Amino acid sequence: MMAAISAKKNHTDAQVYLLERNHTLGMKLSLSGGGRCNLSVRVSPEQFIKDTVRNGKFLYSALQQFTLDDIEQFFTEAGLPFKEEDHHRLFPTTEKAEDVIAVLRQTLKELGVNIKYQQTVKQIDLQNKQVVTNQGSFVFDHLILACGGKSYPTTGSDGLGYQLALQTDHSVTKILPAEVSLVSNDAIIQSKELQGLSFPDVQIKIKKNNKYKDLVRHDVIFTHFGLSGPGALRTSSHINKQLQKGPVTLALDFLADVSNEQLAKEIKTNGLLSLAKTYGLPKRFLQFIEKQGGDPLMQIKRFPLTIYTTRSLQQAFVSDGGIKIKDIDPKTMQSKMHPNISFAGEMMDVHGYTGGYNISIAFITGYVAGYYA
Ligand SMILES: Cc1cc2nc3c(=O)[nH]c(=O)nc-3n(C[C@H](O)[C@H](O)[C@H](O)COP(=O)(O)OP(=O)(O)OC[C@H]3O[C@@H](n4cnc5c(N)ncnc54)[C@H](O)[C@@H]3O)c2cc1C
Repeated sequence: MMAAISAKKNHTDAQVYLLERNHTLGMKLSLSGGGRCNLSVRVSPEQFIKDTVRNGKFLYSALQQFTLDDIEQFFTEAGLPFKEEDHHRLFPTTEKAEDVIAVLRQTLKELGVNIKYQQTVKQIDLQNKQVVTNQGSFVFDHLILACGGKSYPTTGSDGLGYQLALQTDHSVTKILPAEVSLVSNDAIIQSKELQGLSFPDVQIKIKKNNKYKDLVRHDVIFTHFGLSGPGALRTSSHINKQLQKGPVTLALDFLADVSNEQLAKEIKTNGLLSLAKTYGLPKRFLQFIEKQGGDPLMQIKRFPLTIYTTRSLQQAFVSDGGIKIKDIDPKTMQSKMHPNISFAGEMMDVHGYTGGYNISIAFITGYVAGYYA
């Protein structure tokens, strides 16, 4: 949608067509942020690139051409201002993803973009410069592919876009689920004793060669299958590839700002259950530790959890992998093989943390692709 808007805005004489396989626009967007659409994030460009965990540096140029401020301005000018929540996450003040889609749809309409619904692009005929859909064909001077990834396939982004990229001589990396919950078969998960307990601001570490390395610090929740919440999702992007080779051991520090000495003193003076009041740890968790016996410090500061796999692509927020970035010019989003084809959004091998990064990436790269179309 942003690619089509930018193409028409910047090439007013061009005829711009948006081909969408669904009968409506932005189906995945409508689910985003729990229906509230966390559409951007208020951080510096450097932080944005850092938190774009897969190929963030690819975005250097694009992020200067269409900035995070530009995203905000685009929606504010259209009458939909943002509000900032924790971790600098931005939502529309109305808290409705549908309102974000409405702004995009209205802008497309005002600019005169021809939206064609229920057109599934199945083939690209480079020789005759046309795309073949389930209903017919469309000729093009320039084609932007923005077919999304492969997660939540019922929204329309089911990986068909990768086939179109492969058909036109591009390479696609292995597609894995990312920003996805973690699955553990550990006894503590199977017993469901901690199910439903959530912890804010947990330091998640990974154990490698008997050493612990900090991975992510964020909120987590224990579920019937393992670990979820933004902390777990962020971790998935780091351990995805390692999980292909075998289980990964994590250690959770539930009180990262409290030293072992401080904690030991508190437990000695006031007892383990006092930590519910002093530090807000869930009482059920403390009772579980008490029942377990052993060293409570270890359970609180280095809680071990073995991750065997992640939930599937069906349940992942984004896809890890996509069109290889070496095939794409990062300044223009044009294909290096066929400059009359460009790419935008999640179908490229670029993704960030949950929290507004991925929709922003789609807007930024979409805008740039449209500009150079
Ligand atoms: C449940 C959920 C919640 C999320 N929440 C957030 C959030 O709050 N913040 C955030 O930043 N990110 C979030 N994400 C990720 C974010 O929604 C995606 O990264 C983003 O939508 C990608 O945009 P895109 O335009 O590249 O692809 P998509 O939004 O997937 O759009 C691709 C479009 O192309 C169409 N299409 C695909 N193939 C074809 C074809 N062959 N022919 C015609 N049309 C085709 C699809 O129908 C679809 O409409 C969430 C994802 C999920 C699944």
